[in-house]
Order: sequence, then structure tokens, then C-alpha cells
Amino acid sequence: MPLEELLTIYAGERPQWDVESLVQAARKVKEHASAPLSRFKVGAAVLTESGKIFEGCNTECLIPVLSGCAERNAINHALIHGERGYLAVAVVSDLYTPLLPCGACLQYMQEFAREDARDILIICEGRNSSRIVTSLDELLKGGFSPDTSVRDLQQSFSWSCEE
Ligand SMILES: [Zn+2]
Repeated sequence: MPLEELLTIYAGERPQWDVESLVQAARKVKEHASAPLSRFKVGAAVLTESGKIFEGCNTECLIPVLSGCAERNAINHALIHGERGYLAVAVVSDLYTPLLPCGACLQYMQEFAREDARDILIICEGRNSSRIVTSLDELLKGGFSPDTSVRDLQQSFSWSCEE
């Protein structure tokens, strides 16, 4: 779906649509980030279909592979509360050029945050309130779709084991 069309639909038809509250929630939770290694703090927030906002910050660990991005932590926060079907994700960092979600987080959004085939708006804010407004469809071309069946994955795994 073209980004302009998505913005028009959300702004016109969804009373729960409040981009500024979403970005503000992400900005606020950024201060809770645990980033002892990089000192790079990121805050994220997802807006659900029901109008609720769930936040997450990045959580670094001394074993780097155990660390988590703010976006995935925010989605996990919503999933824990039984919320699915997200309209938008906000990401806030202190970079001059706003930080876009990494590839792993985009796949996570596609799998866990996308309701049906609907696109998700992504608002990224950097230092000085500079913003990039984009969407999941614009940033992720391909990846595993939510309708990829477990059976497909299991079959491909068994084939790869046979080789
Ligand atoms: Zn990420």
C-alpha cells in the first residue's frame, strides 16, 4: 500500500490514531534503555488497533547475542498483554539521522505485528525531532510472511537435514 494512502486512511478513519502520543511514549521509554556496552539508547512504542500503546527499550547484555532491540521488546510487551493488530510503530533514538528498524525487527513486525495483509506505519525520530515516516512494506521486501505455515517450515527443515 502506498505510504500516502496509508496515512490518509489512518488519519481519517481511526479515532485511536495519535502519532504524537505514540512518539512521545517511545521518547519517554528510551531513557529506561539498558545500554552499558554501546551507550546507544533506543525507545519504541506500538499503537494497537484498540488504541493502546505498548513501549519497549533496547536491553543490552554483557553477552551481546542475548541483547534485544527496542522494537521487538515493544512488540513483546503488547503480545504479553494479548494485543495483536498494530497500526504503527514509533522508534526514537539520539542519532541525527533517525534510526530505522533493523532487519530482524522488520521480520518480527511482519510475523507478529501485521494483522492480515495490512501495512504498518513506522515513524522514526532522531535528535532535534527530525523524522522519517515510512512503512513495513517500504522497508521489508520479502521475508517470511505471516501465513507461512509451520508445516512448510518443518518440511524445509527436514529436507535440509537429509542433505
Ligand atoms: Zn532491531
